[in-house]
Amino acid sequence: MADIQLEKIVKDFGAVRAIHGVDLDVEDGEFVAFVGPSGCGKSTMLRMIAGLEEISDGTLRIGGRVVNDVEPRGRDVAMVFQDYALYPHMTIAENIGFGLKMRGFRPDDIRTKVAEAARILQIDALLERRPGQLSGGQRQRVAMGRAITRQPSVFLFDEPLSNLDAKLRVEMRTQIKRLHAMLGTTTVYVTHDQTEAMTLADRVVVLRDGHIVQEGHPIELYERPNSRFVGEFIGSPQMNVFEAVVDRAGGAPRLRIGDASIEVGEVPLADGANVDVGIRPEHLRWSQGSGMLSPRVEVYEPLGSDTMAICDLDGRELTARLDPSVRLKADQRIPLDFEPANLHFFDRDSGARIA
Ligand code: ATP
Repeated sequence: MADIQLEKIVKDFGAVRAIHGVDLDVEDGEFVAFVGPSGCGKSTMLRMIAGLEEISDGTLRIGGRVVNDVEPRGRDVAMVFQDYALYPHMTIAENIGFGLKMRGFRPDDIRTKVAEAARILQIDALLERRPGQLSGGQRQRVAMGRAITRQPSVFLFDEPLSNLDAKLRVEMRTQIKRLHAMLGTTTVYVTHDQTEAMTLADRVVVLRDGHIVQEGHPIELYERPNSRFVGEFIGSPQMNVFEAVVDRAGGAPRLRIGDASIEVGEVPLADGANVDVGIRPEHLRWSQGSGMLSPRVEVYEPLGSDTMAICDLDGRELTARLDPSVRLKADQRIPLDFEPANLHFFDRDSGARIA
């Protein structure tokens, strides 16, 4: 078993507390992604699991064993970094097999394991080259090959794709997902890219200022963010959020957003409540009538699969993901509707989800 348990984990850098008592269980075989903005503590959390950073307080268990004071090499984890850390003077085969050699494996066994990893990662043809003769994506595969051959209980990835171009990132993402499906190794993956986290992980853990703010299945976070912060962080393009006032004067509740007054059915809010209202770009659609909202198009992006309209709504930016058949013009006012059920309400002060 290779489950990971974090119990009230704290990290202080001198007087600065970077991680504030985090509790988290990663199950055996699970793929968990840590995601959050720069400086939220993702790498520090991962480095504590790897044993590269001392734990200031709390208990870390891997496979049921307390490992707070265990050296990295005694934890049975393999880490893949952003910068690959390959040895330039060694061949790819030697790079992949280096860890095994250091642990005293026989040359025959090393060859077999290296060949197996190379086959899985489709780098068989590159084994005699040196790192300088490979592309970024190929180097990344070599770094993963080195992790695979060790057959660790846990894989730790720290932004492994951030040095690759967009197309290669998507390819390698699929490769990592395939690898996990094949090997079933418990994995913790750090990224600042929410798309990467959502596409890869069984469970996404959102961090902010050294706290876990929400964790769950990617779709759960997308559909029910517990705060404005998570709502805006998860999902691309970003959720639109507007200040709104609830108006129950005329019977059926309405929301006043800028100049618009929109009937929204039942809302869990009192008359006059000031709230932040979120609506995702993909939940706005071209209206057959005059539209609940009629923003002015500033810029539009015809992507083929859909068309992104970046609009101005009474001085606020609003993004709508529309059907590609719509033909837009800059400065045009467009009629948009949405289902009230797709609205998210957040407390104006705390940002917490309401209902
Ligand atoms: P990024 O996405 O930018 O890599 P991150 O979420 O991985 O950010 P960490 O690198 O874990 O963030 O840093 C968390 C906090 O701890 C930050 O405020 C950072 O400045 C601080 N920190 C990290 N390493 C050290 C260190 N060695 N000494 C002092 N403070 C540190």
